[in-house]
Formats: sequence, C-alpha cells, structure tokens
Amino acid sequence: MSPSQLSGVDSHQGQIQRVKVLLPLPLDALYDYQVPAGMTLAPGDLVEVPLGKRRVIGAVWDPEETADEIPASRLKAVIDRLEAVPLPESQRRFIEWVSRYTMAPLGAVLRMALPVPAALRPERPVQAVRLLEEMPRSLKMTAARQRVLEVARDGLARRATELAREAGVGVGVVRGLAEAGALEWITLPVKLELDAPDPHRDGYSLSEAQSAAAAELATSVAKGFSVTLLDGVTGSGKTEVYFEAIAAALKANAQVLVLQPEISLSSQWLMRFEQRFGARPAEWHSDVTQAQRRLTWRAVADGEVSVVVGARSALFMPFPRLGLIIVDEEHDPAYKQEDGVIYQARDMAVVRASLESVPIILASATPSLETVLNVQSGKYRAVHLPLRHGVARLPDVEIVDLRRHRPPRLPNGATSWLSPPLREAIGGALEAGEQALLFLNRRGYAPLTLCRTCGFRLQCPNCTSWLVEHRLTRRLECHHCGHGATLPRQCPSCQAEDSFAACGPGVERLDEEVAQLFPEARRLLLSSDVLPGPRAAEELMDKIRERQVDLIVGTQIVAKGHHFPWLTVVGVVDADLGLSGGDLRAGERSFQLLHQVSGRAGRAERPGRVFLQTHEPDHPVIRALAEGDKDSFLEREAAARRDGHLPPFTRLAAIILSDVDPDRLDQAARALARQAPRFQGLQVLGPAPAPLAVLRGRHRRRFLLKARRELPLQRIIGDWIAGLPRPGSLRLQVDIDPYSFL
Ligand code: ADP
Ligand code: ZN
Repeated sequence: MSPSQLSGVDSHQGQIQRVKVLLPLPLDALYDYQVPAGMTLAPGDLVEVPLGKRRVIGAVWDPEETADEIPASRLKAVIDRLEAVPLPESQRRFIEWVSRYTMAPLGAVLRMALPVPAALRPERPVQAVRLLEEMPRSLKMTAARQRVLEVARDGLARRATELAREAGVGVGVVRGLAEAGALEWITLPVKLELDAPDPHRDGYSLSEAQSAAAAELATSVAKGFSVTLLDGVTGSGKTEVYFEAIAAALKANAQVLVLQPEISLSSQWLMRFEQRFGARPAEWHSDVTQAQRRLTWRAVADGEVSVVVGARSALFMPFPRLGLIIVDEEHDPAYKQEDGVIYQARDMAVVRASLESVPIILASATPSLETVLNVQSGKYRAVHLPLRHGVARLPDVEIVDLRRHRPPRLPNGATSWLSPPLREAIGGALEAGEQALLFLNRRGYAPLTLCRTCGFRLQCPNCTSWLVEHRLTRRLECHHCGHGATLPRQCPSCQAEDSFAACGPGVERLDEEVAQLFPEARRLLLSSDVLPGPRAAEELMDKIRERQVDLIVGTQIVAKGHHFPWLTVVGVVDADLGLSGGDLRAGERSFQLLHQVSGRAGRAERPGRVFLQTHEPDHPVIRALAEGDKDSFLEREAAARRDGHLPPFTRLAAIILSDVDPDRLDQAARALARQAPRFQGLQVLGPAPAPLAVLRGRHRRRFLLKARRELPLQRIIGDWIAGLPRPGSLRLQVDIDPYSFL
C-alpha cells in the first residue's frame, strides 16, 4: 500500500465503521467490510455483502486485532442486514471450536450452521404441489409421470421444481400432472405448524430401576454442563427414561436436541414421542423437504420449536435457549461425517453442551470404549438399566460352529449359507407363526464376481475395488463411488461366454436361498438399495410389526433400535465378517453391531434365540456375545488398545493427499514426508498408498500420525502442512480421530 493511499484516509478515520464478516465458504479468513451510515451491526448479525461480482450472506464476527488493515474508506460496504435472528455467541464459539479441532476452514463450518440461506430471508408464500387422494380416471401414464407420482406418494408438498428434480424429470411433467388433476396446488405455510410438546402429560408408569434412572437424569437438567451415559440393554426402556429428562428441560422452558443416527430416525420413535408429549418434534434429516427445512431452521432460531430430533447435522442449528442434548445410540459410527468437514458428531455434541453449559445424555446398549473410559475416569457419570422391561428377557445366544455344522447344498444343487441348526430354528419359528431375521452385512448378490474360466474380476474404473453384482437391478456396482455397469456376457479377458460366477453371499443371494428353503414364508429383503431414506424404511418396518412378513433378510439397517414383538429367531449368517480388517475398531464395532442385531429378538413375551454362525467360535468377540459379557469384552478391548498405543490412549490423525495426476501426488507426498514433524511422543507413518489407492478417479496417499495425548496435535499438523504447495487438483484432507482407514 502506498503512502498516498494511506494519507487519503486520515481525515475519515474514526468515523467510518468497519466489521469482520465470516463467509460460508471454505476459507479461514474473516473479511473486512465498511458499515454504511445508519446501519448498526453487532457480532452474530447476518448480513449480505459483496464478494467479487456475487452477493453472499455471511455472519458478522467478533472483532479481532489485525495489523496492516486496509483503510475503512477503501472497503466495500455491507449491503444489507438480514432480519433473521443473529447467531448466538455460544454458537459462534462452537463454530470456532469445531474448526480448530477438525482443522476445517472456519467458513466451511459456518456453512453447516447456515445450510439453508433462504431461511434467512422473510418467507414469501410459496406454491407447492401435492398428490391428490384420488387419481383422475383417465390419467395418461408415461414413465416420467410414473416417477413423479412415485416421489409424491409420500403425500408431502413440494415446489414443482423440487418434485421434478427428485423425480428426475422436467418441470413440465409436474405441471402437466397438476393440470390433469393428479396433483393439487397449495400455498405452503410461512411458519412451521407444530404444537408444543406438553411435558405435563403422564408417561408410562416406570419400573423402580427406570424411575431411579429417570430421576437422576432429570436432576441434571438446569444444573449446567454434565455428561451422563445412559447404559441399558436393548429393550430396557432407555427412550422412556430419557423422555423424563426431556420433560424436565421443557418444564424449564428450554430447547432440546435429540441426535439419532440417520437411518434410526423412525416414525416409531416419533410416534412414541407424540404419545408421551402430545405433539411431534421438529425433524431434521435427509428426507425433510427444502421448504420444511427453511421453516424448521427459522422456527428453531426464533425459539418457537422446543424439541428437534435430527441426524448429525442438526447439531449446528441455532438454538437460542438450548437446555439439553441427547445422543441416542452414541456408539454408532454413523456419527462420524467422512466428507466435507470431517467430524464426530457425538464428540462435538459434548463440546457444544459444554460451551452452552447444558447437560448431555449419551444413550446406548453398547457404549463406545471412549465413553466407557470417560465414565471410569470420572469425567462422565453413568446411569444403568440392567434389565429388559416387563417380562421380556435377553435372547439366548448360541454359537454355531460352521466347521461342524456345514450348510448342506440346496435341493437345486446350489451352495447354501444356512447351517442345519439355524434352518431348524427358522422352520420352528415360522411354524409357530413367529418371525425370523437373517442378518448379513453385505449388500447385493455376491461380494465377488469372477470368470470361471480365467479368474478375471471386474474392477471399478474409478476406484481400487471390485464391482459387486446386484441382481435386483441387474447391474454391477461400485460400493465406493456408485459406478454402475452391466455384467458382460463375454469375459473381457478370455472371451469365454456366460462364464461369470458369483462367489460368496450377499443379502440378495441369501434371499434366493430362503425362497427355496421356505417357499411358503412371506419374505422381505431390507438393504439400503431398497431404502432410499428413513421414510421408505419406515413403511417396511411397519410391515414387519404388523406381521405381514415372516422372514426378513437384511443388512445393518435392520439392526437399529426397532421393536418387533413377533421376532423370535435371529440368525447372524457370517459372524466373522468384520472381525478382522485393518480397522482398530473392528472388534468393537462387530460386537456392537451383532449385539444390536441380537437385541431384535424376543423383545416381547416370546423369548428370543440368536444363532451366530462362525468359523472362529473362540474369538473373544464371539465369546463375549454368547456369554452376554459386555464388561469383560470392553476390559479386554481397552487393554489391547493400551498395549497397542491406540486411541483413546493415544491420538490419531490421518492426512490424505489425493490428485488425479499420480506423479504430482507422489511429489507432494515426498515433499510432505521430508518436512515431517519430529517430536518426542509423535510417530508419523507414511506416506503409503491408501487401501483404496484410487477413489473416484483420484489417486491417494495416506499419512497416519500417532501422538501422545498431551501433544498439541492440530498445531503440529497445521505448522507441517502450511508450507506445502498445492498445485492444481492436489487435495489435502485432515481427519482428526479417524474412523475410516480406507
Ligand atoms: P431401549 O431404548 O432401551 O431399547 P425402549 O425405550 O425402546 O428400550 O423400550 C422397549 C419397549 O418397552 C418399548 O416398546 C417401550 O414402550 C416399552 N417400555 C419400556 N418401559 C416401559 C414402561 N415403564 N411401561 C410400559 N412400557 C415400557
Ligand atoms: Zn468406484
């Protein structure tokens, strides 16, 4: 800056006001703007500002001392101050905290807090369409119309453009359907129409253990920050118990946030909530329409909504009087967001509770090792519910040693995956009019498809992974990038005809097997392929509850918190799946998942039986499951982690470099390796090709840092990567506390 530019300003100084504005862009910097005369701005205010040729909505941030400032008179001016409620101070501190911890740019975190910019403007009445109850008789059907009606079937009102986008058709198709009388136009409400939950209604009369737990949770409300683990076996009534804490918070006129793993957001939970409190909570997840999202966000900001139940992103909502956070199924790995800002929502929920000075409850039947150790060290409190509610008992778990009980071939000669004891138990349940569930955590028909003649396998062109056959859709699919292809008739390598064979079971293949073994049974296949979102899942869950199906084959989707009173037999088809693998949490996760699946059996009067098919009947995870001995499993797991210097005893961070150009990637990885930080108590591993060495067409290299807990890991990484040149398409991602090692 030249002296003449500076001197030109002097006369104005002290008069022109300036503010720092944070923009919801992947940038760390705050931008300076001039405050126009007559406008008053305070930190947290939402403003519209010019950025290049664009207008962007940002948040006024707290002033900070910076040297070498551009004189105020030369700054661009704030365009407008929005009417929306400002971001509360606690939320600004939270955004800063998450950014510092995850090393994601401050602006990227702000973007999560302002996910629906349209919510910040006054609502205008919006026209939307909705399916009419009765179809006109003479409706001409086309494939495009069919798709629109399919999407609209849930009865929700959407803007015509939104409906068209979801259905993948032009907006003309939607308008046509409205003209033809299949859809009706309505004006969307400009406010969220929800009754207030009433905490004074009576809930169930609780058992003694439940009452004690509920009382303890309720007394933590309105007493500042505390973390309580609500540890109770499946079916013990954890939900009923934390409802009492919600009631206490509502009586204190506070807002409550309930986090759930996305797919567990069931209408069963919503119904129970409504029964208890006489009104529904606000919802926040991927199935919520844009219009609803806007209204919900604003109603939360205005303090009109008292309870929000949502997936991890709900954590960033602008609650002005938050009084309680509940994290249900706190151990669920789905709380880790793996793209964009990489964060663990359960951990960040604890941070938010602390910054807001409010209590947080972590509920689970199989708490994470991290949480259990925090209880042992006295950082967290714990409340236990050791028994299932009422007459329901935990199911008997039987180990089926597959080496002794080999599945015999099917009548048609095909390979079978079900051992005689499991077949017998399923048959028995079906005869008694009860339900059976077969669990296999593998989507598609078979994990591997290869040429019988030459052994050739079909690989994803974008990723280091094999394509998985899906017979339902008649496609091969990459489970990492979604790439799809059709199975060729001829092997591309040896030209043999019709030579591809499926190896190993996926849920679709298992479903085929049970169709042969139990032809009379009404079957249901449940995997994410048939369930695009929580709402679709719900219809099928209702079917199970209403006993419209007898035999369910499913992936981990069936494991989550559902209550099926008629389900008495659970078969875990391959209990060894997931036990091994490079993942440090493999054993823990496997235990949690299998325990949860097992917990689906015998949830009412009829006792349940669980069969674990395994080749390793002596594996500690299998033993712990069979003996129902969670504590000794956790003890052993903790000892193993301590000995291996693994989390939570040490801290891990991953750095993933990726580039479309492998040479440039190698150069960057080598440059970074040369500068690797050296500290006592810090180990830097890598660069190594990531297990998924190519993902979505990008080559990848990984560093893994292992650090003693007291080291300032983020600062060390920040100093290290700061100097790395980032040419062109080179991307660097930092993953603090990684869960995925791919
Ligand atoms: P968890 O969340 O621990 O798996 P839930 O809260 O879902 O357990 O309770 C399991 C089932 O038992 C639910 O159907 C619930 O309504 C019922 N239940 C729990 N406690 C009571 C109670 N005190 N009185 C009546 N029903 C109860
Ligand atoms: Zn792929």
